[in-house]
Amino acid sequence: GPPSPLSPELQLRDVFITVKTTRAFHHSRLELLLDTWVSRTREQTFVFTDSPDEGLQERLGSHLVVTNCSAEHSHPALSCKMAAEFDTFLASGLRWFCHVDDDNYVNPRALLKLLKTFPQTRDVYLGRPSLNRPIRASEPRPHNRTRLVQFWFATGGAGFCINRKLALKMAPWASGSRFVETAALIRLPDDCTVGYIVECKLGGHLQASPLFHSHLETLQLLGAAQLPEQVTLSYGVFEGKLNVVKLEGPFSPEEDPSRFRSLHCLLYPDTPWCPQLVAR
Ligand code: UDP
Ligand code: MN
Repeated sequence: GPPSPLSPELQLRDVFITVKTTRAFHHSRLELLLDTWVSRTREQTFVFTDSPDEGLQERLGSHLVVTNCSAEHSHPALSCKMAAEFDTFLASGLRWFCHVDDDNYVNPRALLKLLKTFPQTRDVYLGRPSLNRPIRASEPRPHNRTRLVQFWFATGGAGFCINRKLALKMAPWASGSRFVETAALIRLPDDCTVGYIVECKLGGHLQASPLFHSHLETLQLLGAAQLPEQVTLSYGVFEGKLNVVKLEGPFSPEEDPSRFRSLHCLLYPDTPWCPQLVAR
């Protein structure tokens, strides 16, 4: 039916996108994202890091969030950033929260198309399951007891999305200092902690989507025709070899090792730095 005035059709500006990064990757990873997909989602994308950076600040302005989280690869440091992402989303008032890592490509067109398929009346936690079975954790209980819990979680390295309805319910375990406390309680990484809160605390379920991708998969297996439909992609090194999507140009693997620049020109050919097809 026609869109009701209370929930008009979802637009990209309703989606809050957070990117987790760290000092060491400001140059090597962030600039690539700013040149590519972030250029299409400026308004609603916020980058969370641990160290000030003049160059990045110049490009991102208030969309660079320098947290007080430490610049290390520890569970508390990573959970601290996720907590900051979550709180900034809650404060934004937007309809969807999508988290990605700094080695993810987000296709905003595909993201919007996917998110539009979910009614606002449901709680939604959407992403790629990290494992092919639920993960187990030991949850401390009163009187020195523990309870074994099992739950699915979306791998943070492929990105995931949560709608506002669900995020508001998560707040008692996820807002302010509570996300870091919850993660410490089950002694698991930030992305597992999100799954724990949704499934074990709220009785919700991860909605698995094959459109989110991390570099834990063999990215070459995606066919060229499937690439435009994917919501997130990634790149990485596996056993000394680049694990990247398979794409003919326009840029060579030397110029564009991640393939993100080539992908961006395929998806958004009107980008000023993409080789322009000349009509003649
Ligand atoms: N990261 C971070 N602090 C660190 C190391 C990594 O915030 O000390 C972030 C990094 O920017 C990325 C995510 O954590 O967004 C995952 O890091 P990476 O891709 O290096 O490792 P992976 O877990 O994918 O192997
Ligand atoms: Mn990674």
